[in-house]
Amino acid sequence: MPSQPSSTSLSWPEQSGDLPRDLPDRRALDRLLGEQFPEAGGSLSPLRGGRAAAETKLARLDPRRYTKSRNHLKGAVTGLSPYIRHGVLSLAEVRDAVFQRIRSRDEGIKLINELGWRDFWQRMWRDLGDGIHDSQEELKTGHDPASYARELPEDIRTGRTGLACMDEFQSKLTTHGWLHNHARMWMAAYVVHWRKVHWKAGADWFLEHLLDGDPSSNHLSWQWVASSFSHKPYFFNKGNLERFSDGQFCRSCSSSERCPFEGSYEQLENQLFANQGSIRDVPTRRSRNHQQRSGRQQSLKGSGQAAMARPKR
Ligand SMILES: Cc1cc2nc3c(=O)[nH]c(=O)nc-3n(C[C@H](O)[C@H](O)[C@H](O)COP(=O)(O)OP(=O)(O)OC[C@H]3O[C@@H](n4cnc5c(N)ncnc54)[C@H](O)[C@@H]3O)c2cc1C
Repeated sequence: MPSQPSSTSLSWPEQSGDLPRDLPDRRALDRLLGEQFPEAGGSLSPLRGGRAAAETKLARLDPRRYTKSRNHLKGAVTGLSPYIRHGVLSLAEVRDAVFQRIRSRDEGIKLINELGWRDFWQRMWRDLGDGIHDSQEELKTGHDPASYARELPEDIRTGRTGLACMDEFQSKLTTHGWLHNHARMWMAAYVVHWRKVHWKAGADWFLEHLLDGDPSSNHLSWQWVASSFSHKPYFFNKGNLERFSDGQFCRSCSSSERCPFEGSYEQLENQLFANQGSIRDVPTRRSRNHQQRSGRQQSLKGSGQAAMARPKR
């Protein structure tokens, strides 16, 4: 337990051992935390906590814009995850707010779906318990699990990879404690597939910083990217990153001449994985339905669509 603050600081409750809640402003809170936890660098996230901030965000919910733009970094995502994570808002409350704003079910389906993912990961946690910390299945990458590094490389941890996108995601993660879903997916894929770091090292690092940090959503999503909790690894290419980030990183990136994400999905798959054929051959639900409808047994082999054909999240 931290020791009593100095006499110049705000008063510390004698009995509870809790931090003081009666602070004049956020600067005072920032100062107090700096004094009490000098080993924790940085300052407060600009994201505001509490019910009033949550309600303000809830009032801005726009399910139709969300459906069209959620994969874009500048899209109309809700930013509600920290409030949901800490019980400031319930999933049912967010669901009801969605229903109030739509004219047909189609308009809200995407956002309701995502709330469903949150609920799904929580249920998986209930079933698996501490098992979420272990790989759920074998990797589909063809690599020996022991070949992945167990420590996060220092250049990733400190945002010095020289890749404008990844360094910006590191900065946002450590200063805001929040990242857009696509940035989380890109960063996790970079850490696991390009840098060959075990998903657990990346997942633990995310949990150190995320204000919405939740062991189930986080660890199982990292495993989904790594392929120990999905039928194939998630990866991306430069075109995908440029499109959904509106090109904001690549234009000024000092590594643009040697971008590791440059190439077709097929080229990157050859470069990153040992199991290329089998990764491409796993039919997705969409392709299976299509095959059933058309009666043709089309093979995905060689289509280079592995990542694009993945279930969208
Ligand atoms: C590698 C990785 C790690 C992640 N770690 C976490 C985590 O620790 N905590 C966490 O809450 N989410 C996590 N997610 C899921 C998702 O990225 C965040 O919930 C989302 O980005 C939060 O932003 P938002 O509130 O604007 O989401 P919105 O897109 O506006 O969605 C509304 C709500 O639905 C839920 N939601 C949305 N997408 C997902 C998803 N893919 N999985 C589960 N729930 C979702 C969240 O509660 C979110 O607040 C992770 C995803 C990945 C790929």
